[in-house]
Amino acid sequence: MSELLRAGELVALPTETVYGLAADALNPAACARIFTVKGRPLIDPLIVHVAGKEAARELAFWSEEAESVATAFWPGPLTIVLRKRAIVPDLITAGRPSVALRSPEHPLAREVLRRCRCPLAAPSANPFGYLSPTEAHHVRDSLGDQVTHILDGGPCRWGVESTIVDLQEPVTPRILRPGAITAEDLEAVLGRPVTTVTKATDTPEAPGMLERHYSPQTPLCLFSWDAPHLPPTGNRARVYLKKPEGSSPVGREDFWLSENGSLKEAARHLYALLRRLDRMGFGLIEVEKAPDEGIGRAYNDRLRRAAAKR
Ligand code: AMP
Ligand code: MG
Repeated sequence: MSELLRAGELVALPTETVYGLAADALNPAACARIFTVKGRPLIDPLIVHVAGKEAARELAFWSEEAESVATAFWPGPLTIVLRKRAIVPDLITAGRPSVALRSPEHPLAREVLRRCRCPLAAPSANPFGYLSPTEAHHVRDSLGDQVTHILDGGPCRWGVESTIVDLQEPVTPRILRPGAITAEDLEAVLGRPVTTVTKATDTPEAPGMLERHYSPQTPLCLFSWDAPHLPPTGNRARVYLKKPEGSSPVGREDFWLSENGSLKEAARHLYALLRRLDRMGFGLIEVEKAPDEGIGRAYNDRLRRAAAKR
């Protein structure tokens, strides 16, 4: 796979968050094919994956803050946005002065990075706007024979995309996309408040954080137990965080993401279940909102975008 990447080919590979569609980040022609295959607009910048801090320093202007968070959370599900060096092609950053960097933890991704000895641009391996792939067959299901090389590393451990933190202004670190690493995790390391940008309109620097994203074809909405419970109507699927218990019988339209209500497990299974439901011909998918804590925030963020108006 590393020879293919060095030769400018695309390879889909597993990370601990979701499957990525990788290309040599220093080869603009190869990166251009990522945009074509995904149908991704050129204004949406790509995350660059590196083996570690040393490789990151060659691509971005490193800082004390970057050093602290990378030491704490790399390799892992944290992407750091910093000012870019000239070596990074403009295509990758969509013409921005910043670059987004991550060192993934998945052993296969690390092995490929070690062997190919180049940074890898790798957005999620799905058509633009659709659900990210969390199993190897999801890549083939939605990108078909446009991607001929797929490394199968089993189901992804986290199942939601990385946390993105912007450290360009070290005094005011901002989360551009919530993920497994939370604001509290970052605050504990940085020793200062970390804000979370909530609306796409607040982040002209991250045009990829579109209001509607990560969505199945089937219309989707969120429900919560504190809101009035509507009676079942029509042809809709209900997705619970936890397996329903008690006397009420479970219907063919009832699904759950975790046996015991674990948020980590729910996040891990979310995209795979939504992909399955998307093929079952429901008119609506209702998904239970998670408590706004830990990975529940990333889960709610993705579902809110999946539910946003077309
Ligand atoms: P994906 O690779 O599909 O998970 O999405 C990558 C996302 O990372 C983009 O949609 C942007 O929101 C964000 N991103 C990538 N590069 C930058 C950058 N230079 N500055 C800010 N956000 C970025
Ligand atoms: Mg994506």
